[in-house]
Amino acid sequence: MSLLQISEPGQSTAPHQRRLAVGIDLGTTNSLVASVRNGGSEALGDEEGQVMLPSVVHYSEQGVVVGKPAKAAALADPENAIASVKRLMGRSFHDVRGDALHRSYQLVENNSAVPRIKTRGELVSPEQVSAEILRVLRRRAERTLGGDLLGAVVTVPAYFDDAQRHATKHAAQLAGLHVLRLINEPTAAALAYGLDQTEDSTVAVYDLGGGTFDISILKLQGGVFQVLATAGDAALGGDDIDHAIADWILQQTNLSEKKLAGLDAIVAQGILNAATKAKEYLSDNDIAEIEVELGCGKPWCGVLQRTHLNELIDDLVKRTLNICRQALHDAKLKPEDITAVVMVGGSTRTPYVRQRVGELFGKKVLTAINPDQVVAIGAAIQADILAGNKLHSDVLLLDVIPLSLGIETMGGLVEKIIQRNSTIPVARAQEFTTYKDGQTAMSIHVLQGERDMVSDCRSLARFELRDIPAMVAGAARIRVTFQVDADGMLSVTAEEISSNVSASIQVKPSFGLSDAEIAGMLKAALQHAEDDKEQRLIKETQVDADRVLHALDAALAKDGDRLLSAAERDSIELVRAELAQVKSGQSARVINKAIEKLEKVSAEFVARRMDTSVKKVMAGRRVDEL
Ligand code: ADP
Ligand code: MG
Repeated sequence: MSLLQISEPGQSTAPHQRRLAVGIDLGTTNSLVASVRNGGSEALGDEEGQVMLPSVVHYSEQGVVVGKPAKAAALADPENAIASVKRLMGRSFHDVRGDALHRSYQLVENNSAVPRIKTRGELVSPEQVSAEILRVLRRRAERTLGGDLLGAVVTVPAYFDDAQRHATKHAAQLAGLHVLRLINEPTAAALAYGLDQTEDSTVAVYDLGGGTFDISILKLQGGVFQVLATAGDAALGGDDIDHAIADWILQQTNLSEKKLAGLDAIVAQGILNAATKAKEYLSDNDIAEIEVELGCGKPWCGVLQRTHLNELIDDLVKRTLNICRQALHDAKLKPEDITAVVMVGGSTRTPYVRQRVGELFGKKVLTAINPDQVVAIGAAIQADILAGNKLHSDVLLLDVIPLSLGIETMGGLVEKIIQRNSTIPVARAQEFTTYKDGQTAMSIHVLQGERDMVSDCRSLARFELRDIPAMVAGAARIRVTFQVDADGMLSVTAEEISSNVSASIQVKPSFGLSDAEIAGMLKAALQHAEDDKEQRLIKETQVDADRVLHALDAALAKDGDRLLSAAERDSIELVRAELAQVKSGQSARVINKAIEKLEKVSAEFVARRMDTSVKKVMAGRRVDEL
């Protein structure tokens, strides 16, 4: 009798059957799902063939509505319609306070944790709201592909930190999706164009969406993508173009109120909608007719020429170009070093945007793949590979860490373990030791940032390593390992090498930083580089002084009476007092001098102690035994 074979759970029993996997672009404005079918990656439409799902969730009296109807309902019931929830993912109330003006719904502080959104008297988390969007996309995919999904590759902005990635992953899990991997949006876009197949490509991905702008510079090295630099503005996108057009419309009308904010909400929304429509129309036409209701009888009618639109958005486009220059600078590249420019995001359909970006990089930009689908299409290609449908491919996607990661050492200093811009996945270890004799525990404080002092960096987590065997100061060897996995999640392990005791921590969703904050931290680090260096030197010298004093006191207490005459002891105590006095001062030179002096005056004492301890060890043993 032959043995019965059982296949692994979740794996297809028939080898020829494709494992269903999708790519999902969970966008601020729009979301969509794509899959590899019939050899090509394509975006999947809903029952009406609509691919783009507006990222809006409406908590209606009848239940939850997602997408276009939710967007429509937002006008009449703004408090219960949640748009742009991506901006809240993995962020604290404190982080997102500043955006309050743009929110129609109420955000509720939730101690120090993730804030909640209040809808119809109920509180929901940003992750739950995102899960509603993802659930619609999962169902759409299952219906179109005809089966349960093995998993999904979900994209996130390259600058998303740990907490934001955690939140995204969690939202997908809530929606019943198995996350094969989170990948960066620009990397997905480059994959969609097959740029991983071209040797030596250095790719700029220009992503102008509804409310955000991101530029990423990627380099293909040995078949893998590395993110060399990212930059962006979280408050710059197609919405700003709509507002520029709306402002222009208001200038043309006879309304006394020339600001949208001052108008009736319905009238203002009507003007904005007309602006969006005209903008999108002008991507393919030279002139657009506009008609808006002003709420006072006669509507306003006018025309907007494409050339005029170009003028209206010139400042906006220039701002994105400056950010591109900054990213090039960070990557230490010139525009001519870029071999391909990929256009991503609905707003890059505007011809003027394409033109100006092309001029900056001195080459034709890539627009052949639908710019608002390209990220999902690339993610689907990656999902197909991860699901095991493509045997020959071995693309590994590498992303970078936006801010350095390290731990606190004596004196309130930060020792960086993983440097900023390191590509992930990455693991780095460094050895530390105990500060005091007999120390059996060590507190590990994990920090993020470029500055030298703990107080200038961001605290991510703390944990303790206990049960270190008691040894003299400096003898224990504690290896601290930082590991950032392919999804950008950080775990930290501390291990005492001789005893194998260890402790570890997964960095929990601590709250994220916006790219503006990251930029701010980097700027501060540059500005304070000199001060920081000096402060570090002083602190290190102070720690040194403490260590010397501590060791001397212990030795004096133990052997002082036995090995020193009263006069010898007095002269040591005198110099000890000098060091104790100057050690909190702000001059490393002075402290160092005092340390040297103390070491000199106590050298004889140290030598005598050494002698006696050697004699102790040698007693009763032959030299060749040792
Ligand atoms: P996100 O990544 O933020 O979810 P998208 O990539 O879907 O956003 O881009 C949405 C933006 O693209 C909106 O501001 C929309 O008005 C704009 N957009 C869509 N189609 C066009 C078009 N044909 N011309 C210009 N802008 C467009
Ligand atoms: Mg996008």
